[in-house]
Amino acid sequence: MYRSQTCQNHSPGSDEAAIPTCKDMSELVTDYLDGALPWSTRQKARLHLLLCHACRQYFDQMRRTVRFLAGAPRQAPPPEVEQDVLDSIAAHPHSDGG
Ligand SMILES: [Zn+2]
Repeated sequence: MYRSQTCQNHSPGSDEAAIPTCKDMSELVTDYLDGALPWSTRQKARLHLLLCHACRQYFDQMRRTVRFLAGAPRQAPPPEVEQDVLDSIAAHPHSDGG
């Protein structure tokens, strides 16, 4: 008597892991950035990102958008503040006295 066993982790005949398409990726992006994807799906998504420059840029853009929308507490200071810090550092060089 034969029992047909279906195992999702070991499907015969599929040598290559099914990499998600660009369309799939656009649907995965929020879960991916949220860390909500299953490990295996995440690996496939990463593989796609390695191969697909367009999706890499898209994901990068989305990551920034998500951070912005989430109101990241640590925002980059405006350029003038950064320059002010640099100036104050330059004005007070490390003294070797001691
Ligand atoms: Zn792609």
